[in-house]
Amino acid sequence: MHLKDFENRVVLITGGATGIGRATALAFARRGAKVMIGDVNEQAKESVELIKQEGGEALFKKTDVTKSSDVKSLIDFTIDEFGSLDHAFNNAGVLPPTKDFVDMSEEDFDFVVNVDLKGVFYAMKHELSYFETKGKGTIVNTASIAGIIADPGMAPYVAAKHGVVGLTKAAGIEYIAKGIRVNAIAPGLVETNMTKGWLENEEMRKVVTSNTPIGRPARPEEIAGMVLFLSSDAASYAAGQTFIVDAGQTAH
Ligand code: NAD
Repeated sequence: MHLKDFENRVVLITGGATGIGRATALAFARRGAKVMIGDVNEQAKESVELIKQEGGEALFKKTDVTKSSDVKSLIDFTIDEFGSLDHAFNNAGVLPPTKDFVDMSEEDFDFVVNVDLKGVFYAMKHELSYFETKGKGTIVNTASIAGIIADPGMAPYVAAKHGVVGLTKAAGIEYIAKGIRVNAIAPGLVETNMTKGWLENEEMRKVVTSNTPIGRPARPEEIAGMVLFLSSDAASYAAGQTFIVDAGQTAH
């Protein structure tokens, strides 16, 4: 049994086809929210099916977050279909293979920054302008512990995620007095498609999980809880901050 504390609320999730986005979509739906998923990956239809099987409401609109017009259409579609938008989770992201700094091409840099940073900027911009008309709303962005500390071989990802922390601070302080709360989450290692390459290789799995004080990666559901909390009225004084969910990895 779950409390239906998101009943009559509309939630928009980017990157909800798999991983953290899917787990969060399910968690919101179980608490009564109507969920819109925007993703480039058609697998998002499975997320919608899973929600419907549990008696929840969800829709998918194919969306490339690197295109401002796509993101705007997604938000308009959400409001047309569900009558409102209350909570946004800007979560779509990519993590390219690791490379030495000097081997990173302009394309490598643009690919990550376009999805992980510009994609979040576009979403925030359109969401904030709608929330301003209502005088309320919440945004949670997905940063990463790579937005707090650096890992080797991931310079553009580290830069993009630090940028998400920056966008969150900037909008957080600009909008809190207007009734709109903007925060971010910084997950540590999570078992999803993104980390499959590391975690399916036994040797590599040992290396990356040994960095976590708990000795294992998070399940996506263990990240979803923080997103729900930050979106909920229980977090009414939280704004402009990035909340780390890493089993203490960066406290070490
Ligand atoms: P994932 O690959 O399962 O999910 C990423 C989602 O983003 C996918 O559904 C993908 O289709 C979507 N996406 C990618 N490019 C897109 C685009 N241009 N437009 C729309 N959607 C797009 O991996 P995940 O781990 O669930 O990642 C979700 C978020 O969590 C990402 O922002 C990622 O950087 C972040 N994150 C992941 C970890 C981890 O260890 N897995 C750690 C910290 C942060």
